[in-house]
Amino acid sequence: MLHWMLKQLSQLTSKNKLSILIYHQVFAQKDPMRPSEPDAAEFDWQMKLLKDHFNPLPLSEAITLLKMNRLPANSVCVTFDDGYVNNLTVAQPILAKYEIPATVYVATGFSQGGNMWNDRLIDLIGNSSLSEFNLSTLQLPSENVTDITSRRELAYKLIPLIKYQDYQQRIAIIDQLYADNQADEVANKMMNPAQIKQLAETGVEIGAHTVDHPILASQSAEQQHQQINQSKQQLEQWLQQPVVGFAYPNGKPVEDYPLSAVEIVKQAGLDYAVSTSWGISTPQSDMFQLNRFTPWDKSPLKFHLRMVRNMLP
Ligand SMILES: [Zn+2]
Repeated sequence: MLHWMLKQLSQLTSKNKLSILIYHQVFAQKDPMRPSEPDAAEFDWQMKLLKDHFNPLPLSEAITLLKMNRLPANSVCVTFDDGYVNNLTVAQPILAKYEIPATVYVATGFSQGGNMWNDRLIDLIGNSSLSEFNLSTLQLPSENVTDITSRRELAYKLIPLIKYQDYQQRIAIIDQLYADNQADEVANKMMNPAQIKQLAETGVEIGAHTVDHPILASQSAEQQHQQINQSKQQLEQWLQQPVVGFAYPNGKPVEDYPLSAVEIVKQAGLDYAVSTSWGISTPQSDMFQLNRFTPWDKSPLKFHLRMVRNMLP
């Protein structure tokens, strides 16, 4: 009943307002080091809720309708950043079950092996065979972790210290942390080119997300140009079809990407780009800086309420 009322409310208020949801990973079972990422059961009820009470659309189609002022009420698009294998193995079957279109933005530099620096850090600190961590490369004293909570706290304390370093510097720091703690790397988490193609063949749109996932704001114009164009061209070569969408790594305007990067995206022949600025998009929005948000709520009613509240004037 409450869901029905929320649906009627947003039916009246959400015409020409596009909600774009961001996901990263969907785990088969909950990952205690990444508690905010949904598992299959959570993602299943979320997609069912979108199917029952919203109007899920392919993002390219939603943007075309939005530009024409013809986007239906309750429109929603589902997106994933980075290109994790579990997008194909766990999320895609659930998307297919509810016939929900989706877009996955792939950082192509990880498609031939290797994990992203933040995952490598989280998995290092989450490695249950280690309990004392040598952090001398970060000029920090060693830390002892006793349980999953202290592991999580340590990992999420270290991430901001590394995030805004140059991407090659980030890799060097993580390599050193692994060496100093004699730790083994975990298996590759990102899709390889064959898996990206397989996902595309199920109808999921593939978009570009740079090569190395750098903070574009900390790069030269030439580096930004190369990161943006090369990821698009590489995906087009793997997929043998045009790639029209782009997601800025980290995605906060100015802080993570400069306005000059928006121009580079336009010149690269991309049709649209998504940021991580919180909110909905309207026909007046910059189609090269569309807002997105992450519905983190763990109950269907709160999740629904947040979706509707975002669309209110
Ligand atoms: Zn990303």
